[in-house]
Amino acid sequence: MSDVKSLEKKYELAWDKYSEKDVKKVFALSDDYIDFISKCKTERECVKEFITLAEKNGYKNIDTYINKGNKLKAGDKVYASNMGKTLALFLIGSEPIEKGFKILGAHIDSPRLDLKQNPLYEDSELALLKTHYYGGIKKYQWVTLPLAIHGVVVKKDGTIVNIVIGEDEKEPVVGISDLLIHLSADQMKKTVDKGIEGEDLNVFIGSIPVEDKDAKDRVKLNVLRLLNDKYGIDEEDFVSSELEVVPAGRARSYGLDSSMVMAYGQDDKVCAYTSYAALMNTKQTDKTCIVLLVDKEEVGSIGATGMQSKFFENTVAEVVNLVEDYSELKVRRSLTNSKMLSSDVSAAFDPNYPSVMEKRNSAYFGKGIVFNKYTGARGKGGCNDANPEFIAELRDIMGKHNVSWQTSELGKVDQGGGGTIAYILAEYGMQVIDSGVALHNMHAPWEISSKADIYEALKAYEAFLLEI
Ligand code: MN
Ligand code: MN
Repeated sequence: MSDVKSLEKKYELAWDKYSEKDVKKVFALSDDYIDFISKCKTERECVKEFITLAEKNGYKNIDTYINKGNKLKAGDKVYASNMGKTLALFLIGSEPIEKGFKILGAHIDSPRLDLKQNPLYEDSELALLKTHYYGGIKKYQWVTLPLAIHGVVVKKDGTIVNIVIGEDEKEPVVGISDLLIHLSADQMKKTVDKGIEGEDLNVFIGSIPVEDKDAKDRVKLNVLRLLNDKYGIDEEDFVSSELEVVPAGRARSYGLDSSMVMAYGQDDKVCAYTSYAALMNTKQTDKTCIVLLVDKEEVGSIGATGMQSKFFENTVAEVVNLVEDYSELKVRRSLTNSKMLSSDVSAAFDPNYPSVMEKRNSAYFGKGIVFNKYTGARGKGGCNDANPEFIAELRDIMGKHNVSWQTSELGKVDQGGGGTIAYILAEYGMQVIDSGVALHNMHAPWEISSKADIYEALKAYEAFLLEI
């Protein structure tokens, strides 16, 4: 009977296999992750932090090699930043570049509220900022929360002013109002979609007027004075800014047993952080390793910093040129022969909302990294469908390294679905599969992950970079 039982596949909780020492490692990793994600809420903040840490680990800007005409050799480490919002890191391998790369990819943009071009106005002696949301959000989730403003303002002379308002506990936060329940009879009859609409997402930022009683918009003027005093900017400078309104405050441990993480922007910084950490922990390699962290995934991967831009291909061409005698054929072969884990978050089964999930093909908290053979929606439309040959190889590697893994679909077949950057890389003819960490509350201001899954993702990425 025991032999027959061994034929079954059971997806166990990773917690069950951990020793006391393992649990300490799981918690230590999530402590570092909580520090990172509390500080890095925008794509620019992620790129800056990743570069700072990478340089400490011996990574150099690829431009230093390009400008000096120096060649790259096995063991060298370089990075390329695209407009400060997308980052590619390379650990050069000992094998010919045509053998292909080992690629870990993830995205570092997250749903949020962006300020409009002309955001600042006064209404009823209150100063407000107009926003246009970025990515898919449930608008009602963003009211009556402490919010912060992160981003840059670029002045006419090219000076970049970095702005973070609302994170320091001694500093004020900002926020969006909702109607009191006592006067919500009409609002409560609306559908959830219409209860709070896009043009209602106006951020309150002030209520004190300037002294001049004859001036118009005295509260707005006072805000402008504050901004000018602190940052040296004026109203026109908003036109050349990228200011993102995000939930204020630090990420936290979640649950009485502290087994989970509550944080803003875990989609997809949880996969970005662990992919990046796996590369930093990799000291040498046969095939060249790449970690690719992209922007604009939440709005369709378009634009100069999205996955569809030529940045990645161009950077690979530069690396081929720095490692060997350049040929376009080598660039194409290196990409075609690559293997990739394209990581993004999955939906973890939520017992509060079981009706949208198919229990046998859902991800569960604590059962490890998730592999999605395919994403897509309704008839697998628009999906990248990974090859069973590649999945078999991954199963073998994960087994050898005792990594907990599971598989999932995003929800019931006819319910919906999604997609990420995998299909864009798949166009080169490389082996690529969607993978990542499962979340509750995906795209909400505060998303939840399992600390065991974060740890297993790191282990999975390390095993991939070592073995594939
Ligand atoms: Mn995502
Ligand atoms: Mn997303």
